[in-house]
Amino acid sequence: MNQKIFDKDTMVSLWSDNYECWFCEGNRPDSIHHIIPRSDTFCSNSPLNSAPMCNYPCHLNNHGLITTEKWKAKLLQKTIRYLLKQNYALTQQDLEFYLKHQKLYEQHLDS
Ligand SMILES: [Zn+2]
Ligand SMILES: [Zn+2]
Repeated sequence: MNQKIFDKDTMVSLWSDNYECWFCEGNRPDSIHHIIPRSDTFCSNSPLNSAPMCNYPCHLNNHGLITTEKWKAKLLQKTIRYLLKQNYALTQQDLEFYLKHQKLYEQHLDS
């Protein structure tokens, strides 16, 4: 099984109550972006790596921008806050993902 492809059922159950695009804050997210992109060795199908977005224009038109360090930090932090609020229980794989990207989780963001 490809460890980079999100499990569809997991994604549906985790994100079905969310109506916010992580990029524009609009209410029509219809795709899930890999925060650590699939081209990256440390990409993962951990839910911590998922971010809801409008596929067009947000996701497709801004892929360069949202894979900068600053945006990766912003998206990772927003997703983990959301998941913990949903009482999502982190798995071993999630913890490993967190530790791998701890610097981004601890990065101070302006907003
Ligand atoms: Zn959007
Ligand atoms: Zn993407």
